[in-house]
Amino acid sequence: MNSTVKTIIFWVFIFACLVVLWRVFQTSTGGGKDQEIAWSEFLQDAQQGQVNDVTVIGSEVRGHLHNDKGSFHVTVPANYPHLFDVLDQNKVKVTVKNADGNGWWNLLIQFSPVIVLVALWFFMIRQMQSGGNKAMSFGKSRARLLSMQQKKITFKDVAGVDEAKEELKEIIEFLREAQKFQKLGGRIPKGVLLVGPPGTGKTLLARAVAGEANVPFFSISGSDFVEMFVGVGASRVRDLFEQGKKNAPCIIFIDEIDAVGRHRGAGLGGGHDEREQTLNQLLVEMDGFESNDGVILVAATNRPDVLDPALLRPGRFDRRVVVGRPDVRGREEVLRVHAKKVPLSDDVDLRVMARGTPGFSGADLANMVNEAALNAARMNRKSVAMVDFETAKDKVLMGAERKSMLLTDEEKRVTAYHEAGHALVAAMRDHADPLHKVTIIPRGMALGVTMQLPEDDKHTVTKQYLETQLAILMGGRIAEEIFLHQMTTGAGNDIERASDLARKMVCEYGMSGMGPLTFGKKEEQIFLGREISQHRDFSEETARQIDGEVRGLVDEAYRSAYDILNNNQDIMHRLAIALLERETIDANDIRAIIDGKELPPIKPSGGSGSAVADVQQVLKPEPSRGTSFPEGSPSPA
Ligand code: ADP
Ligand code: MG
Ligand code: ZN
Repeated sequence: MNSTVKTIIFWVFIFACLVVLWRVFQTSTGGGKDQEIAWSEFLQDAQQGQVNDVTVIGSEVRGHLHNDKGSFHVTVPANYPHLFDVLDQNKVKVTVKNADGNGWWNLLIQFSPVIVLVALWFFMIRQMQSGGNKAMSFGKSRARLLSMQQKKITFKDVAGVDEAKEELKEIIEFLREAQKFQKLGGRIPKGVLLVGPPGTGKTLLARAVAGEANVPFFSISGSDFVEMFVGVGASRVRDLFEQGKKNAPCIIFIDEIDAVGRHRGAGLGGGHDEREQTLNQLLVEMDGFESNDGVILVAATNRPDVLDPALLRPGRFDRRVVVGRPDVRGREEVLRVHAKKVPLSDDVDLRVMARGTPGFSGADLANMVNEAALNAARMNRKSVAMVDFETAKDKVLMGAERKSMLLTDEEKRVTAYHEAGHALVAAMRDHADPLHKVTIIPRGMALGVTMQLPEDDKHTVTKQYLETQLAILMGGRIAEEIFLHQMTTGAGNDIERASDLARKMVCEYGMSGMGPLTFGKKEEQIFLGREISQHRDFSEETARQIDGEVRGLVDEAYRSAYDILNNNQDIMHRLAIALLERETIDANDIRAIIDGKELPPIKPSGGSGSAVADVQQVLKPEPSRGTSFPEGSPSPA
């Protein structure tokens, strides 16, 4: 039944109900001028010759007076013998009707309340089922057929993931000319898994495939299979493949497949839960149709590690396409794609921006361009300038500024020394990423941020690099101790991160006297999505040794950072004062202070030029500075 038919039926029904109601109303009140009169009155009227005509229905008499003086109805006393005599004598026109001559109407009227109730109930059920929750079509898949009218996304809109694009182009060719590939006995792949961190353009790529392929493209999300009732997911999978086979050759895209594809037989739910049935059905269906059926499954996930191995075996998702974070060239291309939509001023150099944003994903870059455009609009500029990009980059990197947050002078002083401590260690130690900016303007959850940016994309790091990170983390607390003779809760997060890092160096990376061994197995809780328990597979004695090694690493970092700050007290004071005056200082300013030079006069915010000094993230914003402790916190707990 299509929806127009449904609407028509609905209105016919409503109309019928109205008619019935009207009839009921009419009969009960007699309608219009028709009034009920007393029997004696009727007799009198009749005898005086005022009655023109009557209709006798059973014991009821309806009639009209002469000269249109009105109509009436009256009930005749049982077996009144002279009714017809009276009427006859006064020459009244008499019609006699069978009492149930109007049977159908009477029946309808009698049952009208029931009919109305049934109709109401019917429509209520209707209502409840709509909204994609129809009881009758529970097991139907929710796959949407992407219509070709939508704004088409093509491979041109996806930048910096050339390998992935190549692989997918091949898939599209398979669908277009299956015979060519099968001639030599090749088997068309059944499934392609797009794997990569969030925001790298997996969903975008799939939409581009839909735009490029001239075949139907069904899109569904992994969570669409998950329902409260056992078996629903499985039947949806069945239906999805049915749909696919009907439309072959076609592409079915399952986004976030980890929602259904998680490792079976693990977790809290026992062995037979809904998700497993759904997954089993998916596995069965993928084997169930031959690849030359021309249905190709494309799935995307950022958690390939939790996927069931059976999904990944050859013959199922046998092609894995890694969609990684873009490199420098890729970032420039992504910026170019998104910058096409905004007017750029002449000073904007996207290559510089690309170099200054290692580790950014496509989504980060898109977000940055958008923030820059918003910033330019806020400044009433006609086009987006480099300053706007710098501001946007800092916002994406360090969180939005919260200038309205009121800090006492004392808090500002503590924050300034704390951040100066991080910054000075970072500036003095080898193996550290270059500093980007240091700020004591609260950003996001942090009271202050020291930001480093690696010069290039980092794929692995060295032991020296990690030791330097430990020292930089220690710098904040040490500055508080040396220059303010106190400790604040602001360093809590630094310390936590340092402890985590040191423990990982010992237990996971084998970077300590314990040798190249890992200690402790993490238990992945499938349903909670992350490790909740650490499994100890070593003795008490080893545990003590590990603690000793961890402590050694942290102590060493502490000593090294202490020496740096203690030997450069002068520089520290000047850094802190500069921070208090300017709130934000950049790499050049820090260099100048360390070299004992005068800082350039305070320039209006925006920091054009300086941030171009290719920096990338050093310390992530320090969420703990001021989250939930009285001292550093915006709202004392
Ligand atoms: P995910 O990998 O998490 O599915 P999306 O495909 O949803 O990421 O990407 C989110 C947004 O980020 C896209 O809509 C797009 O604007 C932008 N984006 C991500 N990667 C790229 C890319 N390689 N090229 C162009 N834009 C991208
Ligand atoms: Mg996605
Ligand atoms: Zn800190």
